[in-house]
Order: sequence, then C-alpha cells, then structure tokens
Amino acid sequence: MNTSILYLLMAALPARVAPVTLYTNFQQTPPAALFASIQSELEVIMTPAGLHFDWHPLADAGGRISSQLAVIHFIGACDVAGLRPDTAYPGPLGWIHVTDGEILPFIDVNCDGLRLFLQHDLIASPAAGREEAFGRAVARVLAHELYHLLANTKAHRSSGVAKAAYSVGDLLSQTFQFDKRECASLRLRTVHLELQMPGEVSVPPQRR
Ligand SMILES: [Zn+2]
Repeated sequence: MNTSILYLLMAALPARVAPVTLYTNFQQTPPAALFASIQSELEVIMTPAGLHFDWHPLADAGGRISSQLAVIHFIGACDVAGLRPDTAYPGPLGWIHVTDGEILPFIDVNCDGLRLFLQHDLIASPAAGREEAFGRAVARVLAHELYHLLANTKAHRSSGVAKAAYSVGDLLSQTFQFDKRECASLRLRTVHLELQMPGEVSVPPQRR
C-alpha cells in the first residue's frame, strides 16, 4: 500500500483499540523490577501503533476471553545474575510458530540467548541499571515477534524494531522504535481484525 494512503487511513482510525492479551510463561520467574521494565518498554514501543497490552500469567488463562492474544514463553533465566565478561553469538533471540503458512499466537523469547549476547556489555555498565536495560532488550525482541504476529507478516524491514537482526547497540540503547510505516501497518491490521472479529476468543490449546 502506498505510504501516503496508509497515513490517510491512519487518521480515520480510532485512537485506541482493545488491549491485546499477553499470557506469560517464564521458565524462571524474573525479578519484579525486570518484568516491570519489559512491560513499560513494550508500551513505549507499541503505543505509537495504538497498541496496549493486558498481561496475565499463562496459569491464569482459564476462562478469560479477549479479541486478540498471544502466549509468550520466556526461555531460560530473564535476569542479570551471574553474568560473565564473555562475548558469544547465541543464535535466534526470539521466534514465532508457523503451521501451514499460518502464524500462530505463540512466541518464544530466548532469555538465555539474550544474556549471552549482552553480558559483555551489560557487565561493563553500572549494576544499578542492568535489570532495566535487560528488560528493555527482552521487550524489543518480544515487540519484534509481536509485529510478525499482529501484522501477520513474516517479512522484515531494513531498520527499526522490524529489522531481521539486532546489534548489541540496538538492544541496549535508550530508545529503539518501529519505523513509521510499520507502526501504521500494525495499527491498521489490528483495527481491521477488531472490526472483523468483534467477538472474543479464548486462549488456544497449548502446543507443548
Ligand atoms: Zn523476525
């Protein structure tokens, strides 16, 4: 879609859509301050796209209904304890699940991989800010995977949160955002879904 048409359509959209429900499943419970940092950074990234989130532990999913949801598995330890001054390339930091070409509402975030990737730089930063910085990094990986799910695309862009690979600098910088175009397409897609499905869906069956 032409970018100027996209922006024109954006102007006609409601300012705020119903929150997306996120069900979290942490392999290890994160420190409260780190979890708070994940939540606040995700809002910072997604608010320009008109998206907001309701967070619940996956264990509390029974009976809850929502128009859009995602189940997030956080793999390994989402914390900054026991970091080492080593550098490592950990492989993928997050991923979505696709079956028969369809993107499913399940997201994995590789906290252990993020620790390996960031520990050399995190350990060199003041201890007091490490949890917040690591929480921001986790949120950026999560925002990237939510982009795939909510915009229903496997494609990447050349810059911003929707790009294919992140540097340590992207993950630890003070701000890292979607480009305007991705913001617009996320918002359009979400409103479209809400208009299409004013009803509600419950949490999908667990895949594992
Ligand atoms: Zn991606």
